[in-house]
Amino acid sequence: MGSDYKAVVESVRRAFNSGKTREKSWRIEQLEALNRLLIENEILLCDALYRDLHKSRMESMGSELDFVKNDIIGALRDLDEWMLPKPARKTVPTLLDSLMVVPEPYGVVLVIGAWNYPINLTLAPLVGAISAGNTAILKPSEISPHTARAIEQLIPKYLDSECIKVIYGGIPETTSLLKQRFDYVFYTGSTAVGKIVRQSTNQFLTPCTLELGGKSPVYVDSTVDIKTTAKRLLWGKIVNVGQTCIAPDYLLCSKDVEKQLIAEFKPLLAKWFPKGLKASPDYGRIVTKNHFERLNKLVKSSSGKLALGGEQDAAELFMGISVLTDVSPKDTIMQEEIFGPILPIVNVNSAQEAVDFINEREKPLSLYLYSNDKKVQELFISRTSSGGLTINECLLQLSIESLPFGGVGNSGMGAYHGTASFETFSHNKSVLIRDLGWLSETLGSVRYPPYTSRNETV
Ligand code: NAD
Repeated sequence: MGSDYKAVVESVRRAFNSGKTREKSWRIEQLEALNRLLIENEILLCDALYRDLHKSRMESMGSELDFVKNDIIGALRDLDEWMLPKPARKTVPTLLDSLMVVPEPYGVVLVIGAWNYPINLTLAPLVGAISAGNTAILKPSEISPHTARAIEQLIPKYLDSECIKVIYGGIPETTSLLKQRFDYVFYTGSTAVGKIVRQSTNQFLTPCTLELGGKSPVYVDSTVDIKTTAKRLLWGKIVNVGQTCIAPDYLLCSKDVEKQLIAEFKPLLAKWFPKGLKASPDYGRIVTKNHFERLNKLVKSSSGKLALGGEQDAAELFMGISVLTDVSPKDTIMQEEIFGPILPIVNVNSAQEAVDFINEREKPLSLYLYSNDKKVQELFISRTSSGGLTINECLLQLSIESLPFGGVGNSGMGAYHGTASFETFSHNKSVLIRDLGWLSETLGSVRYPPYTSRNETV
């Protein structure tokens, strides 16, 4: 397996060295072909997502196919500007020179995707890699096998197969791949595996982006419109059944706000899913039996009380939305990322208490605040650290291409989407051009030895 991958990486590197991926025309051609792949195979891809995750068409289009198409549209629109050398400010000794920063592709990029948004998390990084002129090897997640197989089957039909390849596989395949030398590695997945990826890239000093996870807290204070807050928050847990890296993980609020929110959740669920969650085509499933059992263990081991939900069907990997109250911060459910439809609530009595609680833990990928109080908003902006902070909304920050998306600390390093994707996959090369003429040489001659006469004047 290892030697096969060596040959694959070498062939892709030869393709990169041919120089064709540096051409703007190649980049545009590939981006347009990727767009066609998504348009012409909508049914096949939505079907694969349904088989892997029971994803509704609305979610599949909005958070996967259309998401990547929008990224492509933005890249095609901005590519000219992104590729331009950026002039750099001159100093007195370089007034006659040209100074610029030229973005150049790294070379061969490895993209390792996660299972929860298997199209988005594999193809959105590819948009950035292509835009910046790289070749790429994609390794979609084996935990969403139908989608991974669809990507493996479609990419060679549409894209330049000398430059872009897909490798299907799980841990052994990824481990072997990571033994090869890449010029950039882009990983999405858990923090634990992120550390393994970082160690592997260290041996070659390969730069990497790590899009990781963790717990994304929510704080709701008493100044909010409770109905709107309840809707937005509940929706954030329902999308992909909470299996979203930026899903609201746990809720911090007072007992009073807790009561009001739970009172809103019940009628909302009845309105959104009139025949119940299980019968609804709009409600997904837990990805595997292992993940289903892990979630059950989290609930069982919690000291919290089940205030809402609890329904499930193991045969179908169906798990309804559950809300737990009076949860102890020491419970396992408050130690690890939930990544499922469970919302534990821990009571706090002030915004400062919430900030302290958040700051005592690992830096989140996303932090959510629901408050109309400008002072509280300012407190969260200035006194917390997270990949992103979203106030009075949830999940939508991911879809805004002008907002770089990524984590900090345990939730990741690096960012992408829109311009940030191009920057991630480009090395900024500093270029200085000076002529060899009389004037520049005379101005620069002060640097040459002997230095003695100048030393004496000091
Ligand atoms: P996963 O199991 O699909 O793993 C991710 C990738 O890593 C897969 O391609 C897999 O084959 C590979 N992998 C797994 N174990 C490996 C190992 N030991 N060595 C080498 N490669 C290995 O996904 P996951 O890790 O369960 O994904 C869920 C996590 O990802 C959550 O923590 C979630 O928050 C995070 N996530 C983050 C983002 C983001 O954009 N920041 C997006 C989605 C998911």
